[in-house]
Amino acid sequence: MKELVAYRCKKCGLIMYPKHGRCLRCKAREFEPFEAEGDARLITYTDNQTLPWGIDDRQRFLGIVEFANGVKAMGWLKVATPKLGMKLKPHWEPVRVMGGEDVYGLVLRQGK
Ligand SMILES: [Zn+2]
Repeated sequence: MKELVAYRCKKCGLIMYPKHGRCLRCKAREFEPFEAEGDARLITYTDNQTLPWGIDDRQRFLGIVEFANGVKAMGWLKVATPKLGMKLKPHWEPVRVMGGEDVYGLVLRQGK
């Protein structure tokens, strides 16, 4: 997949994904970009049954994973039965349709 680039604050070391204009902890403005690496493990998830326009599904799991190097990211959890701590692989795929066009987002699945 396209690499998942996170940002580390040059002043306090806070890791952010996605990027913010200022550090969420110390308000500094300089960041070092780096890639999420290693296994992504599920740290929390929610069962969303009220989905916005452009998504035909009635239900989706939304999960937050943490990579081995500390990057946390949220995505569509495409598994039948989520379990905290499970290993997942990130993919960039269409997640909804807006104005007749596919919108890509992070999809989390088991296996490859
Ligand atoms: Zn900072």
